[in-house]
Amino acid sequence: MQRILVLGAGFAGLWSAVGAARKLAEERPPHEPIAILVVDARPFHSIRVRNYEMDLTATQVPLADVFEPIGVKWLQGKVTHIDAAKRKVKVETAAGQETLDYTRLVMALGSSLVYPSIPGLAEYALDVDTCEGAAKLRDHLQSLPSRHASTGRYTAVVIGAGLTGSEIASELPARLAEAAGERNGTRVILMDHAPRIADQMGGAQPVIETAMHALGVELRPGVNVTRVTASGVQFEGGESIAAATVVWCGGMRANALTKEFPVELDKLGRIQVDEYLRVRGVPGVFAAGDCANFPIDGRHDSIMSCQYGRPMGRYCGHNVAADLLSESMLPLRIDYYVTCVDLGPWGAVYTEGRDRKLVTEGEQAKRIKQMINRERIYPPRTRNRDDILAAAAPAVQAAPLEDVDMGA
Ligand SMILES: Cc1cc2nc3c(=O)[nH]c(=O)nc-3n(C[C@H](O)[C@H](O)[C@H](O)COP(=O)(O)OP(=O)(O)OC[C@H]3O[C@@H](n4cnc5c(N)ncnc54)[C@H](O)[C@@H]3O)c2cc1C
Repeated sequence: MQRILVLGAGFAGLWSAVGAARKLAEERPPHEPIAILVVDARPFHSIRVRNYEMDLTATQVPLADVFEPIGVKWLQGKVTHIDAAKRKVKVETAAGQETLDYTRLVMALGSSLVYPSIPGLAEYALDVDTCEGAAKLRDHLQSLPSRHASTGRYTAVVIGAGLTGSEIASELPARLAEAAGERNGTRVILMDHAPRIADQMGGAQPVIETAMHALGVELRPGVNVTRVTASGVQFEGGESIAAATVVWCGGMRANALTKEFPVELDKLGRIQVDEYLRVRGVPGVFAAGDCANFPIDGRHDSIMSCQYGRPMGRYCGHNVAADLLSESMLPLRIDYYVTCVDLGPWGAVYTEGRDRKLVTEGEQAKRIKQMINRERIYPPRTRNRDDILAAAAPAVQAAPLEDVDMGA
């Protein structure tokens, strides 16, 4: 039997699998059976963009809830090797190593946090890159009261003031205060080597600074961290800050398994794909999400984001199935880019365009963020086949602002 093998069940992989199932289901007359198999290390679809939140329960959607109703099979295991010439993928599962064949492959293994060679960083810093990292941070914060009293017990340093760093820094004052209870002396410090905090955030930059001041987050732009230890951070010039909590938010790079393909990668380690999400120069292979790069609007490279990963997945799924059925594929083009940064109890900030023009902030932006994070990016949770398949139609949604009733 022919097989579409999808690696990864994140935003790009899950939607690729559902998109392929949708396309196969609409075929009349019925075609030869084509199996869809998804491999992921986790048994759930992680809503990764919510990892800065304290309660992670709603961020893990069981794969069975999405795949069982539509007849997609999935295997829990870690992909270790991809041989595109022989069309084989090696996977480590609880039962041992398996080798899987494919007729078409979708590479959607995402990205992970970059770790430069700062001594102690990988060993001592926490993160919100993965749900496991976010759970470790939560458990760490809850363990603070049982630690011996020290200057930095209730101090948190967030290194990297981009989107992710700003989101977790906004949450930490309240989370630390909860851990500290009656005790005083909580501190949150957001630092970056750039000359300004949130330097790349365009029109959102001053808003993020205002929110940080209101939340009591100390800002330290223009500093270079030289060492992280169990008790804090050291900077170039000799200064150090005692902190029991250090969170690293230093940027993402594509999954290292992109190197298994015989193609040139971009500077973020991504595979170049065409407008149909096909990997250039590797027959039978498609890629989507953070491990793929293509000119999303015909001119600019795609940006690693769930915003692009979901439509890339829907189109990729449609196209991989259409390709197997010898039907014409659909090109993907997205003409907008928005950024919505959660700023904790202060609100949020919403911008449009690559230069991030400020559109709205505070309460209004928070409503948009909550709609995105709690509704828009979820697969249907009804376990209803038709709902799930319909949600994977190859179409580009309107920008989120148009989905929210902004009120008077
Ligand atoms: C805290 C945070 C906030 C963010 N906020 C935003 C935001 O506001 N807006 C936005 O657009 N983007 C945001 N992002 C980025 C967004 O989460 C990513 O761009 C998106 O998750 C990419 O989707 P993906 O499917 O390519 O990869 P992922 O969602 O990372 O999925 C990859 C999947 O592959 C699996 N996998 C990886 N390696 C293996 C392996 N070897 N074997 C088996 N399975 C494997 C993983 O388990 C995972 O399920 C944020 C990211 C973080 C961390």
